[in-house]
Amino acid sequence: MSNEDKYEMVIGLEVHAQLNTKTKIFASDETIFGAEPNTQVSPITLGLPGVLPKFNSAVFKKAIKMGIACHCSITKENHFARKNYFYADLPKGYQITQDKKPICTGGYIEIEVDGEVKQIALTRIHMEEDAGKNNHELDPDYSLIDLNRAGVPLIEIVSEPDIRSSEDAHAYLTEIRKLVRYLDICDGNMEEGSLRCDANVSIRLKGETKYNTRVEVKNMNSIRNVKRAIENEVKRQIELVENGGTVDQETRSFNQADGSSFPLRSKEHAHDYRYFPEPDLPPVIVKQETIESIKASMPALPNELIEKFIKEYQLSVYDARVLTDEKEFALFYLELVQHTKNYKAAANWVMGEVRSFVNEHNISLNSSTIKPENIAQIIALTDENKISSTGGKNIFAEYIKGNTKSAVEIADELNLLQSSDNNELTSWANEAIAQFPDKVLEYKKGKKGNINLFMGTVMKLSKGKADPKLTTKILEELLSEK
Ligand code: ADP
Ligand code: MG
Repeated sequence: MSNEDKYEMVIGLEVHAQLNTKTKIFASDETIFGAEPNTQVSPITLGLPGVLPKFNSAVFKKAIKMGIACHCSITKENHFARKNYFYADLPKGYQITQDKKPICTGGYIEIEVDGEVKQIALTRIHMEEDAGKNNHELDPDYSLIDLNRAGVPLIEIVSEPDIRSSEDAHAYLTEIRKLVRYLDICDGNMEEGSLRCDANVSIRLKGETKYNTRVEVKNMNSIRNVKRAIENEVKRQIELVENGGTVDQETRSFNQADGSSFPLRSKEHAHDYRYFPEPDLPPVIVKQETIESIKASMPALPNELIEKFIKEYQLSVYDARVLTDEKEFALFYLELVQHTKNYKAAANWVMGEVRSFVNEHNISLNSSTIKPENIAQIIALTDENKISSTGGKNIFAEYIKGNTKSAVEIADELNLLQSSDNNELTSWANEAIAQFPDKVLEYKKGKKGNINLFMGTVMKLSKGKADPKLTTKILEELLSEK
């Protein structure tokens, strides 16, 4: 048994999601990403003497949405707490967060890896404010601080140490990103830092039931890097233990260049946050009717849509999953099937041409010129054999360019409409057959492949407008008469 096989990994993830509210959690400063540094910073954000924070109720509505989506219990009486620490990007010297009574407790997130569905249990989801941002690159001599982000609302989603593989961690984060985007509470962008993940990692011998000392790895800027960080940390811990060492509780920082990590602080230097109840904020009371009305206002979530796509539109599980991976594609599909009954063709168009175009050009589907009703028109023309599949792609190319005409108008203009006129097809077919008497003889003797030659000739004569299915039928009939 190799060393890797003797151990199992134990992972718990802490995910911070920046909520997309217009203003901050305790102040009316704006929260526009990328604004001129330090332009969204009021005395409240700075924590100047005499100011009082005021809770932004949009925050708990978004937090509750996530809680409902994750099957959590929602806390009726919420308290805020002060978490004290000293750091340059924290102007007040403390962060307002939730400690003993987080807004959501329990619950789970469902993931699917290699066809197996698992539930990852959540410990809690709590609300808190973000800190500012240090910049060590802009100036050679000084570290610069931008406090625009200070006070921007966050939810922190804390999992139980339930995750047992880096693939599961990847799936878990992908699911969280999908959920926050469906709920429209966070843009889910890890590269820009609106979704951040700290990974708590420990190892134990397979069969062991107690948890061992964990290491927390920070500063991964993509889901793929979280996976890499976990894999490398597990490897480091196994090597350490196998060489007679012990794992120390510490916080490490991930280095994306080579996937390694370096220690940030050890247990001895761990912060003592001296949590205490925030005296400047009254408790936030959540009424049952508020929870009900938030629930009623929530959009369909990916799992519900998967079920709907399978049941109502007879799609395969695979297609349903791919279509719901991203909200805008799922919504596009939902609108498309309002205009066509060919649900499978609709799915193929969205997962194929539409998705590759959007991905290739890195644009959002909503801001593109592609409209569901036009795709439905292409599908209808194809189903009626009025255009070929290549013709359909040519029409799609027009919609990409912003053409606003109907598919049939474009097909007409581009001369893509196929002839399904029997007389016309028969005369082309006769002409083609007359051109190659020797090939007709061969065909009669059993060389059925020659039909392709006649077909190609009909296509040439018709300038590509002959309906291939009908033409084949007519050619077969004519040839059997000869
Ligand atoms: P803290 O607030 O100090 O970070 P928590 O007890 O809240 O500590 O745990 C944070 C995260 O660490 C949670 O996601 C939890 O599941 C995870 N965790 C706790 N113990 C372990 C362990 N032994 N191995 C891996 N992860 C762990
Ligand atoms: Mg932690």
